[in-house]
Amino acid sequence: KEAFNDEDGETNEQILAANIDYIFIMSSLNMEMNIRRIERYLTLALETKVTPVIILTKTDLCESVNEKISEVKTIALNTQILALSAIKKSGIEELKKYFEGNKTVAFVGSSGVGKSTLINCLCGETVMDVSDIAQYKDRGRHTTSHRELIMLPGDGLIIDTPGMRQVRLWEGSMGLSETFQDIEKYIGMCKFTDCKHETEPGCAIKKAIEDGEFDEDRYQNYLKLQREINHFENRSTVKAQLAEKRKWKKVSANLKKKK
Ligand code: GDP
Ligand code: ZN
Repeated sequence: KEAFNDEDGETNEQILAANIDYIFIMSSLNMEMNIRRIERYLTLALETKVTPVIILTKTDLCESVNEKISEVKTIALNTQILALSAIKKSGIEELKKYFEGNKTVAFVGSSGVGKSTLINCLCGETVMDVSDIAQYKDRGRHTTSHRELIMLPGDGLIIDTPGMRQVRLWEGSMGLSETFQDIEKYIGMCKFTDCKHETEPGCAIKKAIEDGEFDEDRYQNYLKLQREINHFENRSTVKAQLAEKRKWKKVSANLKKKK
């Protein structure tokens, strides 16, 4: 992928997908699940063409694991979901399968979901400092020593960088289309071709929501992510145009000199 050279350094994004086989989107079962964040990560993973896997951590702290899994299933479409507990060591063997053939996996997810604990569990020793929840509640931030590339004792590599923990969407919308197939299949099916999906009669999107195909929150998140992507695309288009202009200025200046 060609990097977009950015003079102000503002949008110089991390190379996310280089040689990554899977992205583990991690979310903890003992906290309020942030479905909208999972959708964001899915969009990003699918855009970079890396296979996402949704990992639900801390099953030992949750009394309704199956309910939570069902909830995630409604937004996961074709993405696999795995629930585990690094402390009780359940689901770990299943997880290890993803590393077979020396695969590289990137971990993403908010601080506190159990990434470090899982890495230690997979390594069979402490390679990462595990944050004390009480401690990072006080400080609002967790300060751990950080290895960014972890080689597992068997097959597999893990990439875990703080930068990858909070990724922003900045590229095209293919990932969006794949993540929100259930919504996009209704686009173009409204009665009016210029339907804004608000109060128009015969709106296919509104009807799908009424029929329970997807919920309003999911639809709103789809619109939000779409705005974000459009914003980035417009911005890079403007920048590309400016760069083009500068280039032509130089060329014409050189031509003038020669004359
Ligand atoms: P990270 O910020 O994503 O790296 O999360 P940590 O690995 O530092 O874990 C945050 C807290 O959750 C620590 O107190 C861990 O002991 C705890 N934790 C992690 N995994 C589990 C688990 O499977 N079960 C339970 N009960 N606690 C866990
Ligand atoms: Zn409509």
